[in-house]
Amino acid sequence: MALGEFELIDRYFRRPVRRAALGVGDDCALLQPSPGMQLAVSTDLLVEGRHFLSTVDPVLLGHKSLAVNLSDLAACGAAPLAFTLSLALPRADERFLAPFAQGLLALADRFDIELVGGDTTAGPLTIGITVFGEVPPGQALLRSGARVGDDIWVSGWPGEARLALEVFRGSLSLDEAGFAQARHAMECPEPRVALGLALRGLAHAAIDLSDGLLGDLRHVLQRSGVGAQLWLADFPRRAPLATQPLPVQRMCLLTGGDDYELLFCAAPESAPAVRAVAEQAGVAVHRIGRIEPAEAGLRVLDETGQAADLGHWSGFDHFKT
Ligand code: ADP
Ligand code: MG
Repeated sequence: MALGEFELIDRYFRRPVRRAALGVGDDCALLQPSPGMQLAVSTDLLVEGRHFLSTVDPVLLGHKSLAVNLSDLAACGAAPLAFTLSLALPRADERFLAPFAQGLLALADRFDIELVGGDTTAGPLTIGITVFGEVPPGQALLRSGARVGDDIWVSGWPGEARLALEVFRGSLSLDEAGFAQARHAMECPEPRVALGLALRGLAHAAIDLSDGLLGDLRHVLQRSGVGAQLWLADFPRRAPLATQPLPVQRMCLLTGGDDYELLFCAAPESAPAVRAVAEQAGVAVHRIGRIEPAEAGLRVLDETGQAADLGHWSGFDHFKT
């Protein structure tokens, strides 16, 4: 027999809460942030066919749905507290719901973030998550704090998710091990929460990479009223990205999207501290450029030090692409 809306919620999404004052089951959830902390709130919508392929493993879809939201908390330097889950489902299919909930809640447990409510309805598969985190007043990492002379850093290995997308699109092929790695980057991103927390008081500005590095960096530049220079020679690359033709590497690195790595700006004097906290968080970080005065605009120097033409490289825009 088909599962009803409330049985579905009870079976898969009602869980005992630990820190929240009230979780799933009433008209509202009640959150209890630590005294004196600011609430950080972020929301992300994932639509089948737009943000994920219909063929994706539901365990991984559950993971990624929450991971992309945790990534926003990380980019603000906020500690995860709670989240809500809004689901539109074509049907109450337990073969989807059980693994989806499993992937979602395993990641939630790992980051100690509680599911406190949501909404469930029939409709084209759509997943909306809102996360709540906390941060000491004045310590949130913002897009607006970059200063001239700051180093620009990036975590992890951006570009690999895009490589997998291009394989799915049929525009390139990878060997088995390379595809497995790229596919993992695309389907199972790791939110950089520990790094974001450790960058409080150290980074002047931060953003998480979701729409492609250049486009996301442009948001930082605009909000901070500065320019920047990027050095392609210093971008992190490893196989399978490093073995692609240079134009493919550059396209993936600069406009890839779906990376969920942190891009952040910090004073050059802070470089040793940045390396130390990144190592403690278990994340690779690379210095890929420098913040310049606004008049300098955004310039990318290619692997030979020549200014690259950015004409055809803009950030991802859902209404333009
Ligand atoms: P309302 O009528 O107030 O919208 P619902 O009947 O939609 O409430 O939901 C009942 C309870 O179940 C609420 O506490 C709501 O937060 C929770 N809930 C609904 N859908 C989900 C979901 N997908 N995940 C977690 N909690 C949910
Ligand atoms: Mg409702």
